[in-house]
Amino acid sequence: MSRPAVAEIKLDSIRANFQLARSLAPNGKTIAVVKADAYGHGAAEVARYLADDVEVFAVACIEEALALRAAGLRHPILLLEGFFEADELDVISREGLWTAIHSQTQLDALARSSIPHPLPVWLKVDTGMHRLGFSPEQATKAYGDLSRMRQVSAVTVMTHLANADNDETQGITVANQISRLPSSLLKPEIELSLANSAGILAHKVARKHWQRPGIMLYGASPLAKENQYSEALRPSMTLKSRIIATKWVAPGDSVGYGGRFVAERSIRIGTVAMGYADGYPRQAIDGVPVLVNGKRTRLIGRVSMDMLTVDLTDIPEAGPDSEVEFWGDNLLANEVASYCDTIAYHLFTGVTKRVPRKYV
Ligand code: PLP
Repeated sequence: MSRPAVAEIKLDSIRANFQLARSLAPNGKTIAVVKADAYGHGAAEVARYLADDVEVFAVACIEEALALRAAGLRHPILLLEGFFEADELDVISREGLWTAIHSQTQLDALARSSIPHPLPVWLKVDTGMHRLGFSPEQATKAYGDLSRMRQVSAVTVMTHLANADNDETQGITVANQISRLPSSLLKPEIELSLANSAGILAHKVARKHWQRPGIMLYGASPLAKENQYSEALRPSMTLKSRIIATKWVAPGDSVGYGGRFVAERSIRIGTVAMGYADGYPRQAIDGVPVLVNGKRTRLIGRVSMDMLTVDLTDIPEAGPDSEVEFWGDNLLANEVASYCDTIAYHLFTGVTKRVPRKYV
């Protein structure tokens, strides 16, 4: 028998989530963001499954796009970070990829290149995220330069929203970001892309020609305040393993490295084949919920590299081989993340290669 840690992936849930995203912006087009190995779900498998539903995929960089080509995908693939070296442009053009252009350096490299076929490009405008993109003041000129370039076949204008998940937080709002787009770029003939998952789920004003959902495809809501759409998302990853051993721990004894957890009364614990080398977060604290045989209990003690321990005192029927679920349909990744000072994105992308993905 092999090690029981596994990430079960429900491809039909990813498709249903994609269809939800598309239904919220029926007048636009919906890209499927499959960067970071489809947020840990397996980019090749996810993209192949969605091949007939999706017109365009998006990834972070050329290596991720070429992995999809190697998996047989022939769709246009948008590089959200664009290219890093000018010599990537030949491959981008030859492979039918689309690239973001976020800097003058990239724009100049494209203008100097002698690529075989003109490219669709996405002009990235920084309206307040302050990560990548031309400032609103520079964007009109960049748009004009790109539109006239023989290396360019079409220019889409994109911006990335910093706070669509929580508009009431400190920082810039969605409305503020949209208001910073130069009016010269807000013409009916210029295609716009503003919305990530949070934009799609919670901000009608952000739904334009192209939507770019990522996390919602994988069934986790990015919203601080859920709404009817986020509640309809279907979790697509269940991280599971099994109990390897059980023991009783006497009052006053500690469990695990550092002796951080000390039993106040006699407790029964289960040791599970799952650790931080599988991607379960080491910052998880005592009390993080886990499900054993479908019943809610808690993590106790420090997470080690290959194992962790759970409280079985109130689940007497559980023993070696009982199933443990860390997140999935019955325990949302967002809830687990909230105990670990992180987000579902981090949990999903953190599941390591050691954990086999099983497509169900
Ligand atoms: N668009 C861009 C430019 C991104 O960087 C990302 C992810 O970070 C996405 C879309 C998808 O975002 P989300 O996963 O929040 O939907």
